[in-house]
This record gives sequence, structure tokens and C-alpha cells, in this order.
Amino acid sequence: MSYIFKQTLLPSNKYSLKAPYTMAPQFITVHNTANDAPAANEISFLHSNNNQVSYHVAIDDKEVIQAIPFNRNAWHCGDGGGDKDPNALKKGNRLSIGIEICYSKSGGARYGVAEENAVQYIAKLLKQFGWGIERVKKHQDWNGKYCPHRILAENRWNSFLKRIEKAMKPMEIGKPTEKDEDIMKFTNSTTKEAVRDYIKQAVDKGRIDKSWLDKFDAGTLTTGDFEGLKIIISQR
Ligand SMILES: [Zn+2]
Repeated sequence: MSYIFKQTLLPSNKYSLKAPYTMAPQFITVHNTANDAPAANEISFLHSNNNQVSYHVAIDDKEVIQAIPFNRNAWHCGDGGGDKDPNALKKGNRLSIGIEICYSKSGGARYGVAEENAVQYIAKLLKQFGWGIERVKKHQDWNGKYCPHRILAENRWNSFLKRIEKAMKPMEIGKPTEKDEDIMKFTNSTTKEAVRDYIKQAVDKGRIDKSWLDKFDAGTLTTGDFEGLKIIISQR
């Protein structure tokens, strides 16, 4: 899974409308666009309209586009935070980086990829800031709005957070994973022997851990494991 990161920064003459305050961000707020437009359109819309609505980043199935620097606020939480708000500095609008995940209206495959790109990008931001998963909020946490609507409707907020946590961990290379789906099956013994030889040679040459061969012999090696092994073996 990968995306192209771009910056299409808001011109500073729109700061007074869209990003008036400096900010030391403390949180990341997740939104669904409730729209079927790509990230580039969400960002050009942000640039062109004169409403007090803004967000830092829009993510689709191909791109992560940043419009507002993270040291300025944006208006995406609907919880106030303007000059007349006595609790302005406790509001999501003044404390959080707003991330819009595109294509949420209709969902489907491109939304799924956009959401996974968001998982990866948010994991990267958390690591950059040295933050834990507790820094990730949903729009709903700030003002009660049903957003990110698709993640909420599909009851996946907790699993969304789990995916981010997982994406923050370095990949464990060299140890078999514990998943049990997609076990490799062989219809003929010649192929099975050839695959076993391939794995055994990589073990003998010290390219992969012997536990992979044990896993193959135990009949629990998955096709995903094997695809990963091929990549590891070809890179070493
Ligand atoms: Zn929202």
C-alpha cells in the first residue's frame, strides 16, 4: 500500500479565513468527507470557497494532500474555538490536525484504499510527533457530529485504531506470523518438494530463519507468508 504525498498549500491571504491561529497540535482528528470526490478536488474546493471551513489533509486512494501547515489551526471540528469562545484553547478546532478520508459517501474499493492510506499516514504522523494512539480522535469526540460516518456506521472505529497501532510497529521480518488463513496447499508432491527445497536453501544460506521451514513442514505456511518470503529472499 502506498500513496503520493503532496502539498498544495493554502495561500496565506486566506489564513485569516481558514487558518487564523497558530497551533501546537496535540491531536489528530479523523473525518469522512461524505462525498465522492478525490483528494485533489477536496483541496481545490478548500482553496476556492470563502466559508470558514478547512482541514489540514485530504486522503484518497492515490494521494495524501496537505493544504494547511500543522502549526496553524483549521476549522473542521464544529466545536467553536474562535475569539469569543472562553474555552477556545480546549477545542478540536484549535488543537488538532484535521484529516479527511475521501470517497466515504459511496464507499467501495477506492474508499477502502483511501482508508488504508489514512491508516498508514496517521501512523507515520504519530511516530513523527512521538505520540501514542490516544492522540487520534474522531470528529464525533469534539462536537457529537456523526463523523467519520462510514467508519462509525460500519462499527469499525476500534479496529481502525488497531490498524494504526499495527502500522506503527516495525514489520517483523524473519519470524512467521500467526495467521491461519490461506494455508498453502499442493496438488502434487513435485511442486511441494520444489517449494520445500527453495525454502530450505534460503535457510541453509542464512537468508531466512529456520522457523519458516518448520512452519512449512507443519503444514501451516500461508500463501501470504510465502509471498513475503520470496520478497525477503530476493532482497538478501
Ligand atoms: Zn468530520
